[in-house]
Amino acid sequence: MDEEHRFPCENCGADYRYDPARGELICDHCGDVKKIAGPGPWEGGIRELDFRTAMDNLLPLQEMEDLRVTRCPNCGAEVEFDPDSHATECPFCATPVVTDTGTHRQIKPRGVLPFAVNADAARDAMNDWLGRLWFAPNGLQEYARKGRKMQGIYVPYWTYDAQTASGYRGERGTIYYETRQVMRDGKMQTVRVQKIRWRPVSGKVARFFDDVLVLASRSLPKKYTDALQPWDLTRLEPYRPEFLAGFRAEGYQVDLDEGYSEARAIMDRQIERDVKFDIGGDQQRIHRIDTDISAVTFKHVLLPVWLAAYKYRGETYRFVVNGVSGKVQGERPWSAWKIALAVLGGLILAGGIGYAISLGQV
Ligand SMILES: [Zn+2]
Ligand SMILES: [Zn+2]
Repeated sequence: MDEEHRFPCENCGADYRYDPARGELICDHCGDVKKIAGPGPWEGGIRELDFRTAMDNLLPLQEMEDLRVTRCPNCGAEVEFDPDSHATECPFCATPVVTDTGTHRQIKPRGVLPFAVNADAARDAMNDWLGRLWFAPNGLQEYARKGRKMQGIYVPYWTYDAQTASGYRGERGTIYYETRQVMRDGKMQTVRVQKIRWRPVSGKVARFFDDVLVLASRSLPKKYTDALQPWDLTRLEPYRPEFLAGFRAEGYQVDLDEGYSEARAIMDRQIERDVKFDIGGDQQRIHRIDTDISAVTFKHVLLPVWLAAYKYRGETYRFVVNGVSGKVQGERPWSAWKIALAVLGGLILAGGIGYAISLGQV
């Protein structure tokens, strides 16, 4: 059950690619356009999978796939390789890798957020962003301007749904004021002092969590992918390999239960907010929360990222662009030389003004 994300053109046999602008497959060779066929294998929307079943390794075989990947020895990314090239660069860290025929057995993606921004628009967005970085090293701006190709990559995520019911115990704090007589500057004065009265409380809250999103890749620093948020998951399409034509997909490195722990932490923070709201009053203390969690489901989804990574003086720099919104995130390298020049420029300017003033005075 190898998933090949290649679709030969019906007209000329070259490969179609998914065109973000049209939302269709296009052949760059002969211009042929092909619609992506109607309802997917999961008609009626994107079905969730049961978490317990998956954890017990009881998912039906058709939910699994073998992704043919190359593993980067530097950053550990497992990315689908381009079958036409034997040596390539890791799109995440620009380390040269030799493509091998490793496979990554994984739970099939259920949903995909198709690219909406094409490569040119992504590069323009990155150029704009870099152009604003006056202190960036020249080599970096060169790179962006000449524009080695940006790589379109579908980054793996998990989403989790769960029904939760929580019982809690805590205290509700109510602010009140006392007046006191104090001696100040030799006079008796009345002052108001804020106090809090704590009352024990207990109660219950419940919440259904829908699509708690957890990154399943370790190839990109989390601060980047976090900064690419928000993702509009309402635009998620049932997974169809056609959406991946011309792009690469990354295999997940964070497995299902690890992702679940992260999702639980996100849910727990929300439940804590719910409990505080439920306690009410002016301040809240929480002593304990017991949460029953049920009906946990999940899905593996792919989100689109345009990526440029390259090495500059031994350092890896990366730029990522949200493939739907065009929002850019990247490392902000500073050129020490440019900064020094700016400081020097400032000194010369200041010196010049001083000279002009002294001339005027003569
Ligand atoms: Zn063609
Ligand atoms: Zn790498």
